[in-house]
Amino acid sequence: MKQITEGIRFIPGQDEFIPDSHVYVIGKPSSGDLSIIDAGLMGKGRYKIESILGMGIELSDIKRVIMTHTHLDHIGCLGEILREIRHAELWVHTAEAEPLERGDERIVYGMDMFQSMCQAQYGIKPGAFKFQAHRKLEGDETLEIGGMSWEVIHVPGHSEGSIALYDRLGKILIPGDVVYADYAIGRFDLFGASGAQHKQSLYALAELEVDILLPGHNRILEKVPPGYILETAKQWAPYLV
Ligand SMILES: [Zn+2]
Ligand SMILES: [Zn+2]
Repeated sequence: MKQITEGIRFIPGQDEFIPDSHVYVIGKPSSGDLSIIDAGLMGKGRYKIESILGMGIELSDIKRVIMTHTHLDHIGCLGEILREIRHAELWVHTAEAEPLERGDERIVYGMDMFQSMCQAQYGIKPGAFKFQAHRKLEGDETLEIGGMSWEVIHVPGHSEGSIALYDRLGKILIPGDVVYADYAIGRFDLFGASGAQHKQSLYALAELEVDILLPGHNRILEKVPPGYILETAKQWAPYLV
């Protein structure tokens, strides 16, 4: 775990044969109003909770889990975390909140073959990922939480309800699986994905001034080179149709 800025802490994912998403804890420590961004893979709830406690954070200060999107590697241990932090709300983009509430797990697994494989491998029962969202995000709202101001940007493409969170003051972007370090981007072949939308989303994020990039996997970038997201978008554009 690592403190990125006063209001952002980083818990790196512990990848197995399926990746485990990173978790970011956002909010000024003194606010008593902290948010967890994403949860992670099945079985990683304890690791994430222990990391949070290890930072000296009281679980009572965690008010919500905000999902960048609801793929298995991000939502797998959400239930484990919500069992430990029962008062925490769940905030998800409406495009994925509604299927989540209906129990439509295509948004979680992305493809049928992966669903049967994971259910067999991890003993997950059908219907394990049915959750009620307390707040459905639309995009374009500004979340005044934890003494910080986070803009919600709807960035579909990797998934239908992907969001990025942007701290304009700190020039910090949490893009989920839309864009990573090393000019990599998230896959765009799963259920609800769209290469064309992914391209638009990358170009939209390229408009932002970003010094710190905190993606869902792999390296984080604490000194983003100018034009990094635009360059990434340009490199991928020919494939994103
Ligand atoms: Zn994903
Ligand atoms: Zn992911």
